[in-house]
Amino acid sequence: MDFFKSANTGVLNLAPYQPGKPVEELERELGLKQIVKLASNENPLGPTPQLQVHLGEILKDCARYPDGSAFQLKQKLSEQLGVATDCLTVGNGSNDVLELLARVFLKPGHNTVVSQHAFVVYGLVTQSLGATLREVPCVDYQQDLDATLAMIDDQTRIVFIANPNNPTGTWVRGDALERFLKAVPATTLVVLDEAYVEYVDDPAYPNGLGLLDQFSNLVVTRTFSKAYGLAALRLGYAVSHPDVADLMNRIRQPFNVNSMALAAGLIALEDPGHVAQGVAVNRQGLQVLNAGLADLSLAVIPSVGNFVCFDLGQDALPIYQALLMQGVIVRPIGVYGLPQHLRVSVGTPEENRVFLDALGRVLIP
Ligand SMILES: *Cc1c(COP(=O)(O)O)cnc(C)c1O
Repeated sequence: MDFFKSANTGVLNLAPYQPGKPVEELERELGLKQIVKLASNENPLGPTPQLQVHLGEILKDCARYPDGSAFQLKQKLSEQLGVATDCLTVGNGSNDVLELLARVFLKPGHNTVVSQHAFVVYGLVTQSLGATLREVPCVDYQQDLDATLAMIDDQTRIVFIANPNNPTGTWVRGDALERFLKAVPATTLVVLDEAYVEYVDDPAYPNGLGLLDQFSNLVVTRTFSKAYGLAALRLGYAVSHPDVADLMNRIRQPFNVNSMALAAGLIALEDPGHVAQGVAVNRQGLQVLNAGLADLSLAVIPSVGNFVCFDLGQDALPIYQALLMQGVIVRPIGVYGLPQHLRVSVGTPEENRVFLDALGRVLIP
């Protein structure tokens, strides 16, 4: 029996998502001990220390199903974000929420519009439903919103915009975004993926939540995987018009967010100081990486996230491999159409130094 013949065409054409290489894998392969992983934009400080204090309590309850309505977490988010609870949809990571949106709105014949070099998950969820992904060329690695608008037709159901985008770290300004939203047909959803919102401090950066009242076709997604340091627990959410949330909640698995993640999310929201500390460490680290990469004569794409892409001017894979041999894991981004770039996440001051030293040894032996 050839099961491939009976699979959905959209699924057959997919290439599986390639995550950053896990530390344990490199340890197994090379027998190295001191490994620095700067490959998945995780928080180098880890989660709030309060989590350790409360973990045991949470585990005691794990024979029971989690609260499928995420009541407490939604209450807290509602207070902190100033949005109604019926605008919220929780997910097993924000990737889950992105997939829910795709499953609610897409079928074969529909299309989604994204920028060149956009986060690959948008393409994955689009194609898995048999819809078509349309890619708008970047201008200087930036999303071109006018060209994005021109790419929308009556079959376009979703425009995904990562702000800032991963892996480029580039972002769209508030004035440009508002002009764009005013011009997008009301039947096309605009999904603003704010996975890195906590790290951005530019005054021209738009607050997506503030635009929700004005644009009922806007959806903002956020995550606890980055600034909150909870990537392993999988927790994210969408803020949208209540009707969109209602539709997403109809197809959401009843227990898509586990009780560990729900409790950890609450605890994390109660320690804004920890997030602020991580943001400060990131700001400094980004400067160190930008300066160190410039010292090695490498061009960087200016980033407002917790990562930066740099141009090697040659196939990046051998450099990636050589860095692995030095015990440093970064991210090759050929699948994003950037085969000569590598993406490095901002680490602790020590990790940044180890990375820059290793890169220097690899490039100038
Ligand atoms: C990391 C990241 C996410 C977060 O995914 P989770 O499923 O919440 O871990 C979402 N969007 C972008 C662009 C990202 O880089």
